[in-house]
Amino acid sequence: MYFVNGKHFSMGGWQVVTINCPRAAYRAEGDDAKLFAELKKQIDIAVEIFKVKKRWMDAIVRAGRMPFATQRPKDPHTGEKGDVAVYLDELVYIVGVVGINEMVQYHYGKQMHEDRGALRLAVRAMTEMELYVKELSNREGLNISFSRTPAETVAQRFAVADLLNEEFRAKAMKVVKGDLERALLMIEDTRDLPVYYTNGTHVPPNADISLAERINIEHIFFPIVDGGDIMHIFLGEGYPDPRGIKSLAMKIATKTQTGYFAFTKDMTVCLDCSHVTMGLREECEKCHSKNLDYISRITGYLQSVSGWNEGKKQELLDRMRYSGNEIR
Ligand SMILES: [Zn+2]
Repeated sequence: MYFVNGKHFSMGGWQVVTINCPRAAYRAEGDDAKLFAELKKQIDIAVEIFKVKKRWMDAIVRAGRMPFATQRPKDPHTGEKGDVAVYLDELVYIVGVVGINEMVQYHYGKQMHEDRGALRLAVRAMTEMELYVKELSNREGLNISFSRTPAETVAQRFAVADLLNEEFRAKAMKVVKGDLERALLMIEDTRDLPVYYTNGTHVPPNADISLAERINIEHIFFPIVDGGDIMHIFLGEGYPDPRGIKSLAMKIATKTQTGYFAFTKDMTVCLDCSHVTMGLREECEKCHSKNLDYISRITGYLQSVSGWNEGKKQELLDRMRYSGNEIR
């Protein structure tokens, strides 16, 4: 935070557009070539959006209407102005993915953790998209990157959109994750439904597989995407051996292709006495109040569960949590 020579960190993107991968599978009707063509069609639409965004932002920058990003922070010691705060030319346009697992589940009939062929199809589709994004990036002269979308909202939004759409409803009902029965009871009244597609290239949160199997699948995708990917390790309520955590972290960092991973424990916070307990509890263990909030990781960061949408709340309940022998 010293801004030596007025320097500032510069990062980020202009715009993220997320591809609804399951919908590509619904349209492909089991034909591989059609599946890849449908995914590419969605990427084409994303690029059209980027072009509109670029025209719009260029006009804004030209008119001097982006004062924060274009400011030149001063060196705190010399008082001299440094470089611009954000290198606008280096910001990227991002194509993200959601629901790769449900895409292969619909197209191939099995989920990624259930069958090697399903996993192979997921890797192939991701690679086809990666190459296509590179091709378009060169052709259009735009800096486009391919990544996994954080999907705080879009993992739910796509699932709900497909359930509401007559063309896709019956197909989506076969693969959406969450509490479909409850969602269908609520669907006339709200779009905030407890359903979702699995984020990015993840194994579905509720897949009943070992932690080692989960890591062995998810790490494959890291080299394909340019960023945004994270591997979650959700821990049970107990206190794992710190040596186990360290050993597992070292294994992931040195023996897998995982670029970014996080250990998460859920917490229950009493809103009456402020006591914090590990795990998701129904009442405060200290004062027995039921006036509670929960804290867990929504995507990359920890957040109060009370602010989450119904899809993410359902995902929190569905998550497989690991403890004991798995953490070593
Ligand atoms: Zn309490």
